Amino acid sequence: MTKEKDSIYLDNNATTPLSKEVLDAMIETYALGPLNPSSQHTPGHKAKRLLLHAREEIAQHFKVPTDAIIFLGCATEGINQFFQTFSTGRVLSTKVEHASLYECTKNHPNTDYVTISQDGSIDLSEIEQGITEETSLLLFSYANSETGTLFPIDEIAKIALKHAIPLVIDGVGALGKTEIHIPDGVTGMIFSGHKIHGPPGSAFMYVRPGTKLYPLLKGGGQERGIRSGTESVALAVGLAKAVSLLKKTQHEEMHRLREYFESSLKNDVPEIVILGGSRRVANVSTIAFPGIDAESLLIRLDMLGVYASHGSACAAGALEPSRALLEMGIPLPLVRSAIRFSFSRYTTLEEIKKALSFIVQAVNEQKAFIPS
Ligand code: PLP
Repeated sequence: MTKEKDSIYLDNNATTPLSKEVLDAMIETYALGPLNPSSQHTPGHKAKRLLLHAREEIAQHFKVPTDAIIFLGCATEGINQFFQTFSTGRVLSTKVEHASLYECTKNHPNTDYVTISQDGSIDLSEIEQGITEETSLLLFSYANSETGTLFPIDEIAKIALKHAIPLVIDGVGALGKTEIHIPDGVTGMIFSGHKIHGPPGSAFMYVRPGTKLYPLLKGGGQERGIRSGTESVALAVGLAKAVSLLKKTQHEEMHRLREYFESSLKNDVPEIVILGGSRRVANVSTIAFPGIDAESLLIRLDMLGVYASHGSACAAGALEPSRALLEMGIPLPLVRSAIRFSFSRYTTLEEIKKALSFIVQAVNEQKAFIPS
């Protein structure tokens, strides 16, 4: 992993740096020569074994059957595939989901939305009440990508089981940042490689055994016919390596850094508002700086070598205020002042201290422009 000299990357919810171990594992795999797991010769058999091993490693991490893991090109793909399969009736979701879910539900004529409170939390009774005879899919995230707020997945899974409705969870914002498990009642859970120091262009999903999925990609029948297209063995190996490197102690360390970051910032800039409530994954700190324009602050921070974001990664470049924060009922002026800082296991205390001093400097500079 290399990085720009002296820069501080605090945008790990957008994407993470590739870990050295992952890169090494992939280079070794690419060096093996042509590897098509469907080929019926010695290199093909070798490719098949490597792919199986990668699948097994991921399945063991989640304590699920090996066949339940399907490799994908990105998490968006898996989310769309589950959506296409199960959106035959009404869909129950929220408006604070990542665009890969929201663009599906928004364009579906029969979506019901559960409201989200200002701290990002969900009211379980609204889910119960929102289910009708026609509900065919419950679609929620494990953790919100913009605030890190955790949804009560276990309780939602119990509701799904009780009503026998497929529940699909976007696990992207949670993996590597909290202890993940797949409760009974979950039909599918989707994860992305580039958010866990794995290779971009790699993702995987858990598909509950016995679930039939509509094939988005029709073709050679790879991945049990769920996702046709020749698998990239090197990407699968890199992805499995990235998963195998995830440890609980990393969340604990990120949590400590986040606590330090937030309490120090609150000390120096007392008017800040920390968004997302108290039940959050370890690595996200979304902070509103009342009276300050987040876009200008981000530009100044960028000049100082601190990289963070405003809104979700996929909306980066667009100057629109964050839909998710607005849907949480956070007032527009506060949303326009909010910046998401997201850490990784490679973020150091030294970087946090340095970033803090730059943030305080930039905030004070911006304040000087506010007419009194
Ligand atoms: N879900 C969440 C919470 C995300 O943050 C992202 C990526 O930004 C996705 C889904 C989509 O993942 P991918 O980039 O692998 O399609």
